[in-house]
This record gives sequence, structure tokens and C-alpha cells, in this order.
Amino acid sequence: MRCPFCFAEDTRVIDSRLADEGDAVRRRRECLACRERFTTFEHAELRLPQIIKSDGRREPFAEAKLRAGLQRALQKRPVDAAQVDAVVAYVRRSLMGSGEREIASRQIGEWVMEQLRVLDKVAYVRFASVYHAFQDLNAFREEVERLEDQEVTGLSSKS
Ligand SMILES: [Zn+2]
Repeated sequence: MRCPFCFAEDTRVIDSRLADEGDAVRRRRECLACRERFTTFEHAELRLPQIIKSDGRREPFAEAKLRAGLQRALQKRPVDAAQVDAVVAYVRRSLMGSGEREIASRQIGEWVMEQLRVLDKVAYVRFASVYHAFQDLNAFREEVERLEDQEVTGLSSKS
């Protein structure tokens, strides 16, 4: 951090506290060369990777878009808001943890499907079909049949 008065590079932090409801750190600094004091606001940079769309265009990660997609898939399904939040949080964590500068939108779709497969099978198939995750219609049909088999097995074991 350069001193804004003499541009010396050595400054000392004399006070540090959270600002902007915790989104920034306010630091009081002193220049070791000229002894002037100044305040900085430092924001933790959340560097989410850019999303590469299927047509090759890049765009910032849009959480609202992800939520809309989830809500479509989860329409009339027994999944509550907290569970939706958990899926969104999982995607965010995966994005941040990837360390990549760019990530294919398809990868996001796969993370979501990973979660939905466990959470709600119907929503999973809906979401997967929207994301064109199935190579062809046969693969899609097979997946639906596989899931239906599972449901039937699940029901019969209960009775
Ligand atoms: Zn200075």
C-alpha cells in the first residue's frame, strides 16, 4: 500500500475494523517515511470465474438465473427454500473453489444435477432435459426409466 502523500511503499496499519456491514475492512495506516496518516477501505475480492456459454460468449455468473432454472425444475416439488439455497451455495463454493478464470456453463449444470439427483429425482430429470445434458433422446429415456424403476422399487419395499 503506497502512501498517497509521498508515495513511499512502507506503511503501517495502526487500526483495522470492519466496515460496510462486514464487506470491507477499514484500515487506518501510517506512512513510515513521512508519518502522514490515511484511511483505506479494502474489499475482499470475490473472484468468481467468468461463465462460458455454449455459444462461446462469456458472462458473469448470474445467481438469479440459476435460481430461476432451479425453481422451474422444482415446480410443485416437495423441496423447500433452504434446500434451494443449499444448492446455490454449493455452486458458488464450487465456482470459487475451482480457481479457474473461466468455466463452461455446462459444468455449472453438472454441479446442479449432482445436487438435484440426491434432492429430487423429478427435478433432476427436468433440469437435465433443459440443460440438454443428455446426448440424445435415448439416453434421456433410459435415465427416466432408470429413475422410474427406482421409484417403483422404493414404493414396493415400503408396502
Ligand atoms: Zn508518506
